[in-house]
Amino acid sequence: MKVTILGSGDAFGTGGRFNTCLHVEAGAGAERMLLDCGASSMVALNRAGIERNGLSTLLFTHFHGDHFGGLPAFLLDAQFASRRTEALTIAGPAGIEHRTLHALEADFPGSSTNRWRFPITYVEVTPEQPATLAGINVSAFPMVHDERAGPCQGYRLDHAGRIFAFSGDTAWTDALIPLAAGADVLLVECYAYDTKLANHLDYRTLSAHRSELDTARIVLTHMGMSMLAGHGDLPEERAHDGMTIEL
Ligand SMILES: [Zn+2]
Ligand SMILES: [Zn+2]
Repeated sequence: MKVTILGSGDAFGTGGRFNTCLHVEAGAGAERMLLDCGASSMVALNRAGIERNGLSTLLFTHFHGDHFGGLPAFLLDAQFASRRTEALTIAGPAGIEHRTLHALEADFPGSSTNRWRFPITYVEVTPEQPATLAGINVSAFPMVHDERAGPCQGYRLDHAGRIFAFSGDTAWTDALIPLAAGADVLLVECYAYDTKLANHLDYRTLSAHRSELDTARIVLTHMGMSMLAGHGDLPEERAHDGMTIEL
């Protein structure tokens, strides 16, 4: 698998970073998908030169704008600019179809009743119901973030014996332990440095639980101002826009 972090930022574009958006491909020539497509993702996709019609799947962790807000523009671009004909799968937590139509209507009134040029299939991925998306086995784990924008989920992507785990947004939850168990890479949100928050992880809390996370490689993302302020060398890697992870 190859994961390219197109957006490593928080909700507010702190540090000039794009909102969360990961480009995932199972291998050369394989299907490709986006994992989250935040509000700034069309800019990020264009800047990275990603060919959008070749993306078979969009998978979402939850329904906040910095993870989900790029979807209406993605669909309208597919309809009117990229002139997509290829089938598209839109996957995510329970309610994904309703949330998509709601977001379309809010961003581009009237667009929820568009007659799309391409077939759309909605797939709900839940902790009880894994799925195969873009040739990758995907299992969901319940995260603790903001149920108004949920269910909020982290995902394990399993392909050819390699495992990429992604937390999405979450405070510390013991569900991170099985999410990370045996993963080759855990990409985990780390919004704050040492301020405990109800909806997000801070570095101090993550460090305190490090021994419970059975993965050799942790990459921090979704960093806010206090995390980006420095703090010298940390044992974990820090994500940046354009970073690639091969596994
Ligand atoms: Zn977020
Ligand atoms: Zn969020």
